[in-house]
Amino acid sequence: MIIRLKSSVSPSQAQQLGEAIKAIVVKEPEGYVLVAGASTKEIPAAVADFAEEGIVTATDLQLASRKYRSETREIQLHKEVKIGGETANTVMIAGPCSVESREQVSEAATFVNGLGIKMFRGGCYKPRTSPYSFQGMEEDGLKLLAEMRDLHDFSIVTEVRDATHVDKVIEYTDVIQVGAKAMYDHGILKACGKARKPVLLKRGFGTTLQEFVQAAEFILSGGNSEVMLCERGIRTFETKTRFTLDLCGVAWLQEHTNLPVILDPSHAMGYRYGVPALTRACTAMGIDGLIIETHPDPDKALSDASQQLNFDQFEEMYHSLMPILTAVGRRMV
Ligand code: PEP
Ligand code: MN
Repeated sequence: MIIRLKSSVSPSQAQQLGEAIKAIVVKEPEGYVLVAGASTKEIPAAVADFAEEGIVTATDLQLASRKYRSETREIQLHKEVKIGGETANTVMIAGPCSVESREQVSEAATFVNGLGIKMFRGGCYKPRTSPYSFQGMEEDGLKLLAEMRDLHDFSIVTEVRDATHVDKVIEYTDVIQVGAKAMYDHGILKACGKARKPVLLKRGFGTTLQEFVQAAEFILSGGNSEVMLCERGIRTFETKTRFTLDLCGVAWLQEHTNLPVILDPSHAMGYRYGVPALTRACTAMGIDGLIIETHPDPDKALSDASQQLNFDQFEEMYHSLMPILTAVGRRMV
């Protein structure tokens, strides 16, 4: 149960009430709530006088649940870009898999900016499967991203790989990306809960929808209400494609959660030939955002070479989304 406290309740009173019933105290944009969990079915007597209302949810889907908030949360990602809420925006996030060099990131940033896209991605701490693969430019890469932000007025999306550098990424980035392999790391989730920046949380490739949303609950209950969910493909018996994009899962997230949903067809497919058509399919689902990898010379990319689109492919795909967006009553930002 989530108990909304009356607006007259002070921060210290909210803490005392939370302690009294062993609930987590969360400051939501509208005021304090106590999250008492799924086993609490009625407002406890100890807090009844201070409660506005109690919302019962059946599972650990609490702050992320549409039962608690029927509207999708609205998040400001850039001064000109909002996601979720009433906006009907489909936000495009584009850029290379990794920041590799000044030249590579500058070329990608100039291209992305030329299309009017405001959200630029690029990883600097890469969660590679092999220790012998490129691991990312780390802080030097973050500095290059900061330069691109200043030059093109971007908001930057970059990922944390582990809790050792989470503070550094939070310092530089505008949106914290938590990757598929990092989403179970409680050090990261807790740091994201305390951060005052939006979080793009990716679904692990062996993660159920329930576990995925529970990871988001760690961030929400930690005090950060700005969480977006990203489906990027799960592992199934199929090996011809890199992963399987779970569009049924996306429909479930849209129905049951109040968090904006972003789709990542690049990592799901793993091969660039499928990415444009898959992106169109994602767009037709009326989603809140897309994250797509593009690189000046994909075959030479230091990570995810087979799936990144070259600029011509990206541009053609981007324009092809517009009639689909119109058909589903959304607009690209
Ligand atoms: C990425 O966005 O480049 C990435 C590593 O994604 P994921 O965590 O989904 O594998
Ligand atoms: Mn990648």
